[in-house]
Amino acid sequence: MIDPEMLAAGHANPRTGKIVIQKPWCGTLMSYLRHPSRATDEELESLDMFTHESMHVRGELNEAITECEAVQRNYRAAKLLGVADGTAKRNALEYYNGVYQERGEIGGLQGAYYSKECAPGKAMDEHLADSTWAMP
Ligand SMILES: [Zn+2]
Repeated sequence: MIDPEMLAAGHANPRTGKIVIQKPWCGTLMSYLRHPSRATDEELESLDMFTHESMHVRGELNEAITECEAVQRNYRAAKLLGVADGTAKRNALEYYNGVYQERGEIGGLQGAYYSKECAPGKAMDEHLADSTWAMP
């Protein structure tokens, strides 16, 4: 089990492929999907948690790398969940520019989920064609 503390929200087990999303957060994610165009920070976090845990299931264990992989794929993940293209892009960028950057400033446990190398053109940029931060 990974992420016993990650926003006390989700766990993923790479060996079984199982993802557990804590109950209130599952509701938050559903709430986000009902009105993605007016997502709250918490709803954006629930989208990221879904993507983040999916990255763990692929086998990544380092939290900063996992979170950066998620940040770059939140745009794709939102679209896979049915969010309209433009809204998905805006939501994913809002999470990256907002909640994610604030985490770097807070540091401590939150800081373990942040890296300044997680940025366009930096070491953790995977250069995905549909990256959250890719220019159309
Ligand atoms: Zn994690």
